[in-house]
Amino acid sequence: MSDNFPALPYPWQKDQWQSFNKHIDDNQLAHALMLAGPAGIGKRHLANALAQRLLCQTPQQGAACGKCHSCGLLRAQTHPDLKYLQPEEPGKAIKIDAVRELTRALGTTAQQSGYKVVIIEPAEAMNTNSANALLKTLEEPAEDTLLILVSHTPSAVLPTIRSRCQIRSLPMPRKAVVLDWLSPLVTSSGIAPEPLLEMARGAPLNALALLEGDTLEQRQQMEKNFIQLCDNKTTAIALAGEWQKGDVTATLEWLLIWVYDLARWQAGAEVSTFKPLPDHLRHQLSKIPGALLHRYLEKLLTVKAQWLSGANPNKQLLLEELLLDWGVLLRQAQKVA
Ligand SMILES: [Zn+2]
Repeated sequence: MSDNFPALPYPWQKDQWQSFNKHIDDNQLAHALMLAGPAGIGKRHLANALAQRLLCQTPQQGAACGKCHSCGLLRAQTHPDLKYLQPEEPGKAIKIDAVRELTRALGTTAQQSGYKVVIIEPAEAMNTNSANALLKTLEEPAEDTLLILVSHTPSAVLPTIRSRCQIRSLPMPRKAVVLDWLSPLVTSSGIAPEPLLEMARGAPLNALALLEGDTLEQRQQMEKNFIQLCDNKTTAIALAGEWQKGDVTATLEWLLIWVYDLARWQAGAEVSTFKPLPDHLRHQLSKIPGALLHRYLEKLLTVKAQWLSGANPNKQLLLEELLLDWGVLLRQAQKVA
């Protein structure tokens, strides 16, 4: 739990928070909640805040007090009645043994004579066996037990699990609310909050994460190089040579976002990425046929999947092919223009 203690809901989570508190006060909190929504919006943070609120012995104004014995244990991450169920490594499955251990622990009484809370994240990391091992606990919940399932892709969670949870949908928060929150946090970086948030596709925590390390710098460099390619100031082969020295996964992800943004921009969305470009480039990009752009996006997705699976390990060739193909699109645009 790296968040400040006690965790308080983010501004865009106020409604959910009020509803949680009302359910707690009315003694109507569900036994299993699924916090569902896109990554980077603070679902896990909300789960932590709720867990702390429930385990605190003397909550103040609907949040953990931060001072009681229970809060001390929570702060030290040693509270015996708060458990996490996660993959051992990011991207891996949650193992059935871990689920069994957890269900055993839930069968005993709470050590601090209150609630027992489990945070499962991401819920979609449970494979069929793990999910089945959890089913009984969901079907016959013990008294004063709360399971919080955090999911970025609820459709990937076994329907039998999903149907036994109260689903709380957390959509991408509204831009204005996020900007109010983000602006003071980025002041010292000298980076404007709006393009940063756009780069993070609206996800507030992802926007903040972009400021860490040299992620932002790398992306700006990629963009600069790619614009040079669009403007015939470099070649596909040269750029592929440059890009293959770096993080290819990050490059493919960046390119996907850029091309996707271009498609959105062509469809009339306001995208700040294209505002600072010279007119002739903007004109050319606007003329790339939409159908080709979508085919290119599909190709990017395929190439990324191949790259991640190790099926296409030659970085230089992979990038060259993508960039040469991009050149074809640009020439199509010139014809149309
Ligand atoms: Zn407390």
